[in-house]
Amino acid sequence: MHAAGACAWGLSSAADTSTTDLALLDRWLDSGRHASMDYMRRNRGLFATPSAMLEGVKTIISAAFAYRPADQSDRHPLFADYARGADYHKALRRRLKPAATALQEMFPQSRTRICVDSAPVREKYFAIRCGIAAPLRNGLVAVPGAGSKVFLAEILWTEETAIPATEPIPSPCGACRRCQQACPGGAICGDGSVDARRCLSYLTIEHDGDLPEDIPYGRRVFGCDICQDVCPLNSGACATPLEEFRLSPALAATDIESLVALDSQGHAALFAGSAAKRAPLERLRRNISRIANRPADPEGDGGPQKCGF
Ligand code: SF4
Ligand code: SF4
Repeated sequence: MHAAGACAWGLSSAADTSTTDLALLDRWLDSGRHASMDYMRRNRGLFATPSAMLEGVKTIISAAFAYRPADQSDRHPLFADYARGADYHKALRRRLKPAATALQEMFPQSRTRICVDSAPVREKYFAIRCGIAAPLRNGLVAVPGAGSKVFLAEILWTEETAIPATEPIPSPCGACRRCQQACPGGAICGDGSVDARRCLSYLTIEHDGDLPEDIPYGRRVFGCDICQDVCPLNSGACATPLEEFRLSPALAATDIESLVALDSQGHAALFAGSAAKRAPLERLRRNISRIANRPADPEGDGGPQKCGF
């Protein structure tokens, strides 16, 4: 897995019956903090059933890939770090394919499925369970040495294998509240979940319609990195060694003026192969219109995170 570029990887049994994270998911859904992400409620049952993703699955291989920029020159002032390069869904699938193929060649009767944030898999739970990541107050996980700017992906496998005894890494947050204090929307609930209705990541990327007026959006067009940028676990964490997650030249050459001038063809061309294509042109225009006439924000950039439980 390290050959695939993963900064950490580990094994879990798909038969794991813990439901601690599912209780948090239920509270998150019941309180409406998922906002318009109804697919989370619809898929609630599937999160508890790995076999719904791959019949006969026995083993879950979790992998983490760092995407932290090396410095400011590898960031974009308007886009979250995770969206500044290639679309991680495709890039990680490509990176994990040789490992999945090798497993099937070693065990020809077995089957695999690669999941990259596209199927209802408890990716954070299994990354914590197999000992490669620790849960954080801001709803993300941190990998020792790599911090929280990591993508998670899984290979589901129908073969049973020896699972090394690992103790989950406890949350390193302790008394720290930096992310909660810095979050512009007050979205970090404190129980490891985020209220999407107040989170700039959800609001700028997933939300249709008007934006809440009482949140300082700064110059964020796509996503938000604030709660990660203030996190001490990320200072000194390793930068991504993966070329495809560096700032793309096309995005580097993009500014507010060129975004304002985008038509649908330009939008499709600029974001082809990028995770930022998740926000359709109309949503981007809405976000841009908030800031097109604002002076540069001294606090700077937009940052990422996936909203959730
Ligand atoms: S991504 Fe931004 S808005 Fe969302 S929880 Fe983090 S700091 Fe708050
Ligand atoms: S800023 Fe502090 S409380 Fe928030 S995730 Fe980082 S260590 Fe935890």
